[in-house]
Amino acid sequence: MPGRELAPCAARPERSRGRRRREAPPRGRSEYQRDRDRIIHSTAFRRLEYKTQVFVNHEGDLFRTRLTHSLEVAQIARSVARSLRLDEDLTEAVALAHDLGHTPFGHTGQDSLNACMRPYGGFEHNLQSLRVVDLLEQRYAAFDGLNLTFESREGVLKHCSLKNARTLGDVGERFVKKQRPSLEAQVANLADEIAYNNHDVDDGVRSGLLDMAQLAEVAIFARHMKAVLRQFPRLAARRLRHETVRRMIDTLVSDLIRTSADNIRRHAPASIEEVRLAPPLIAFSARIREESDELKRFLRENLYRHYRVVRMSGKARRIVADLFAALLTDNRLLPPEFQERAGEDAPRAIADYIAGMTDRYAILEHRRLFAIEET
Ligand code: MG
Repeated sequence: MPGRELAPCAARPERSRGRRRREAPPRGRSEYQRDRDRIIHSTAFRRLEYKTQVFVNHEGDLFRTRLTHSLEVAQIARSVARSLRLDEDLTEAVALAHDLGHTPFGHTGQDSLNACMRPYGGFEHNLQSLRVVDLLEQRYAAFDGLNLTFESREGVLKHCSLKNARTLGDVGERFVKKQRPSLEAQVANLADEIAYNNHDVDDGVRSGLLDMAQLAEVAIFARHMKAVLRQFPRLAARRLRHETVRRMIDTLVSDLIRTSADNIRRHAPASIEEVRLAPPLIAFSARIREESDELKRFLRENLYRHYRVVRMSGKARRIVADLFAALLTDNRLLPPEFQERAGEDAPRAIADYIAGMTDRYAILEHRRLFAIEET
């Protein structure tokens, strides 16, 4: 295909800042392809299938899980990266790995584990994603973790407190110096926002927690729904929802590509090093930024705080808190590989163990530790 050359501001696998442990270069694939492949083969990646996005995994078979969410993020991110002539493989690697550190039960699980860990250094899910790829995966003979390239690790660490950033060496530096990550990482970050806003609308309506009349008060949804109805006045409700969501994604992606291409043209960074010093270049236009924020606010108020979601969240919070307390009181309840690490830092080993659990594993482990009857 003509014009498929990478843009000057793209990350280049042959100029990567490298891996923490030196390895022979891959054959027949690039360094970033190797990162992507390692992520897909990891245990943490497979566990995403049974981790909650908004709905608890057993609530229905059709809702998004962290796995399908991550695949949708990767798909959107790759389209954008390709249009901007960025490295698709790095974008995909970051997108697929971005939620690897998520606890069971979505944000509730994460808030709850953070509360448990407050006296022991706290818990941040982005930092946990980095711990997964740097340390917790045990698949390779020569090293712990996946030994990813600097650029993939930097992308995975989307946010980080300054306190923690200072302890992370090279990959934490940008938070201290207020610099940007690669454009590939910036793309994955906004693809995440496009994916969850849209699939949460879809799942929200499918579950009956949201209805189309409510959504008609959100500008971006209303505008696209009206356009669909003008063209197809008698469309069945389900198709109307899908078609509206489809068009919203298209608008968001097109706007992101257009605005970012303009920004890149204007700043013309000649290398990834100049990208790090520039303002964020991957961005929505002001109007779409506003509309996306409005949709986000709507979802927060009407879906994430819906009483049925909140009720499930209460249960999830208790499960995480109970597990943490029980395991901290008696480290011998931990599986052997975590017991070993508990010798150095018991609360951190327990947090790693709990964060790695799927929703149903956490429920089962809670039953095993707390139920009186045999399970
Ligand atoms: Mg995400």
